[in-house]
Amino acid sequence: MGIIEIQCPQCGASVERKEGSYFAKCRYCGCEVCFNEAKAEAEVAGLRGRVNDLGSRLSMETRNNQQQKKWEKKRNLMYMITCVMSFVGFLFVILSDGDDDCMAIGALFIISALMGQLIASCLMCIAPPPSDVGRLSKLGRLFKTIGIGFILMCGTAFISAITYAILDN
Ligand SMILES: [Zn+2]
Repeated sequence: MGIIEIQCPQCGASVERKEGSYFAKCRYCGCEVCFNEAKAEAEVAGLRGRVNDLGSRLSMETRNNQQQKKWEKKRNLMYMITCVMSFVGFLFVILSDGDDDCMAIGALFIISALMGQLIASCLMCIAPPPSDVGRLSKLGRLFKTIGIGFILMCGTAFISAITYAILDN
């Protein structure tokens, strides 16, 4: 049984319990303190502290989750925009049929999509969601974000080729 310290009910000074004793006198005002009640009070206070602790940890987790979702939403939006841009770009290139202007427009779209994705990925990985911090290094997260974006863009190139093949038939 450890030492319990409680506040004197009369003057507020801290009263220490000696091993095995159930009563103590406050050193300052002489008020008698019963430790059975004190123990119960200390336990309740401890529990209350723990509950509060758990509550604040939970709310922090919720906040982190919300921020993570927000970050992912932003990233997915970036993927969507750049994929649509590269899809249009690849379609222009495929449909250009040797027309320089058409090719240039297509190339512009693809390059803009690529650059946009690189810049947006860098910006987003500078400020990662808090729950993600520590799981991946900054560089690792950047490579992952750009890597997925690149694969998605390759996918859109493939889809635009298929679209062309379907349109052509
Ligand atoms: Zn006292």
